[in-house]
Amino acid sequence: MSMLSWLESHSGRTYCNFINGEWLTSVSGNTLPLHHAARSDEVLGYFPDSTEADVHRAVEAAHEAFLALSQTSAPQRSAILLRFADLLERDIDELAYRLSAEQGKTLAESRGEVGRAVKEARFVAGEALRIEGDTFPGERTGVINSTIQSPIGVVAAIAPWNFPVVTPVRKIAPAFAYGCTVVFKPASATPWATIKLMELFDEAGVPKGAINLVIGSGSRVGHSLVGHPLVKGISFTGSTKQGIRIQEIAAKGLVRTQLELGGKNPAVVLNYDDLASAAKQIVSAAFTCSGQRCTAISRVIVLREQAEELKAELLKEMKHIRIGPAWEPDVTMGPLINKSQFDSVAQYIQIGKEEGARLLAGGESLSDGEYIRGHYLTPALFDQVTADMRIAKEEIFGPVLSVIEVDNEQEALRVANSTDYGLAASIFTNNLASAYRFAEGIESGMVHINHGTASAAHMPFGGVKQSGFGPYSIGSSNKAFFTETKVVYVQY
Ligand code: NAP
Ligand code: MG
Repeated sequence: MSMLSWLESHSGRTYCNFINGEWLTSVSGNTLPLHHAARSDEVLGYFPDSTEADVHRAVEAAHEAFLALSQTSAPQRSAILLRFADLLERDIDELAYRLSAEQGKTLAESRGEVGRAVKEARFVAGEALRIEGDTFPGERTGVINSTIQSPIGVVAAIAPWNFPVVTPVRKIAPAFAYGCTVVFKPASATPWATIKLMELFDEAGVPKGAINLVIGSGSRVGHSLVGHPLVKGISFTGSTKQGIRIQEIAAKGLVRTQLELGGKNPAVVLNYDDLASAAKQIVSAAFTCSGQRCTAISRVIVLREQAEELKAELLKEMKHIRIGPAWEPDVTMGPLINKSQFDSVAQYIQIGKEEGARLLAGGESLSDGEYIRGHYLTPALFDQVTADMRIAKEEIFGPVLSVIEVDNEQEALRVANSTDYGLAASIFTNNLASAYRFAEGIESGMVHINHGTASAAHMPFGGVKQSGFGPYSIGSSNKAFFTETKVVYVQY
């Protein structure tokens, strides 16, 4: 079945929260419509506008389920997650249709996202079997000392709208692997794929109440979830502004946090002999998901003598981008998710021009034919950008790339570090010493050498400075967030 015919037969339904293994309408009785990203005149479905009372119910259920979950073994939880991963693969088309419809990204990108969620779920299924502690010699004979890692309890998980399948899985699957229970709140803009995820967790055999979903606004559902006294950990992905507010609330209850926040990721190009390949990777990292990625490259920092050639290669590569709705087979870039995101990005393009940067290409709104139904923007490239401009410092979260020219390697590193963020960074160089100096000097959670800012499904993922706080997600670092240490002394 094609995406459009699938949507025709599945749009317009009303959905519920998933609490304690049951689909429940919100206590408010209200729902809100969700619109198709590429056809904003079409409604995909109606979703709960939940309240504090719904959150309370879900957290209570998760709290009860936590006690029951401690009776399951790690291999049982691992087997459930492996089943869940298989189900994601089985239903990849349906997940991709929902994801593309609500988010706007191309079907190829959506399938890639589901595939990534499969890999991450399989990785954490293995992690369930590796919740190691340590043993130590006793101070006296006949005494053994050890540490064990225990799950922390109920985790609040909150996600943004750019990766509606992989972000929930990245939080919920490890929580379950380590023996925690979860209340998940998706972004208001992308609740539809999450509904399917809950169905699949249920089908895979997750016990009642271990994984719950409450859909609703950040100010009501998100706010009451992070402040709930039974919540022991908050895994949040979203903007830095919201992350800091959550951190303040969490601090009052000594609740731990895992915050994955914004980025302003640089690609530094230093005397690289294959500029065509660098440009290919930079363009892909900058414009995938229409630039609405926390790890999107948004600044290219290049030595002045290579700048013209690199810009020509970037422009050449950008010409291959085909813009359109997700279901068109040759399309490589979808619309922005909604009008408010479009307006915010368009505003930055205006700011860039006013600051004196030169718009070399793109940045135009498309509105003829089918385009009028979505919020399409052509990929934009600015040059004559300086490090102090707002477009060089602030996260734009859209298809806008800035080129900053520098005189030497030291200046390149200084400029790369001259934002509040520190999520991902790339360097393209043939010089091993430059690559290592960069890896050491860059203030960034993830560094890619001769490689775009694409991460792997078994590697720790996170940022420093204003890009993140707390243990990184995905990799083995998750253990530090989802478990706490207990020190055990045994005399025999
Ligand atoms: P956002 O505005 O911070 O929202 C993120 C989530 O927080 C949404 O579910 C939102 O709910 C919820 N929220 C809003 N107010 C809240 C409150 N008072 N208490 C608790 N939760 C609240 O971010 P966004 O605009 O959705 O996403 C874009 C941002 O996410 C960018 O800054 C991007 O860099 C960042 N991001 C980071 C990563 C990473 O791994 N570092 C990955 C992806 C995205 P509503 O949807 O209902 O407002
Ligand atoms: Mg927002």
